[in-house]
Amino acid sequence: MLSGPVLSRTVPSGLAPPAQPQDTSDELTRRNALAAHEDETSVCTRCRLSQGRTQVVYGVGDPDADLMFVGEAPGFHEDKQGYPFVGQAGKLLDRLLGDIGLSRAQVYIANVIKCRPPGNRDPMPDEIEACEAHLFRQIELIEPRVIATLGNFATKLLSGKPHGITRVHGAPQPAVVGGRPVTLYPLYHPAAALYTPAMLKILEEDFARLPQLLGAPALEPAAAAPRPAREPLVAAAPAQEQLGLF
Ligand code: URA
Repeated sequence: MLSGPVLSRTVPSGLAPPAQPQDTSDELTRRNALAAHEDETSVCTRCRLSQGRTQVVYGVGDPDADLMFVGEAPGFHEDKQGYPFVGQAGKLLDRLLGDIGLSRAQVYIANVIKCRPPGNRDPMPDEIEACEAHLFRQIELIEPRVIATLGNFATKLLSGKPHGITRVHGAPQPAVVGGRPVTLYPLYHPAAALYTPAMLKILEEDFARLPQLLGAPALEPAAAAPRPAREPLVAAAPAQEQLGLF
């Protein structure tokens, strides 16, 4: 985990970099690059959602987290406050994190879509297509080892597979995301579990396996196929089709 201030370090040309504990300069560079990327993303107008938003909801947490959560899209409260998962679903996520001894400051939380869809409707395929590069860049800079995908949208986007969350929840799968091997861990979306006790129980059980997954070596990258280019999430879905939470 990183601590300490965000520094921008420059090395005079022709000089070898000063001796540093290994990775420190890489971590600081990535942290600074993430802050710069957040600034760039804050003025994004790549899709229609930019017109109705209060602000871009970029992400929150430890820029060097081993565990990253990816949800769907900001809702009303997230749009107002500028942080992901601050409503009821977020309270449940915080509780589930607490149950495994973690806080949101120790993980990183982001969404597939960075701007609130009107009326909290599902994101459209072209909105996901417009926004996905922001998420991939975040992942590239954070370098998480495990990405817990919350619900169908994140799971289908990051796995590049059409399998719904009901089928794949709780089953870790190797993937290459942002050019790096990661373990994807699909989970039910907390918003879906809020009002469905059976789903909540499954989410709790799946969540309880996260510490073990974080302690385990990354799933064999050789088995991980790179995410196929925008397939099938966007290409196969008719423009109006909504993919739902489960
Ligand atoms: N649901 C999400 O998927 N993301 C949020 O930020 C809030 C609710």
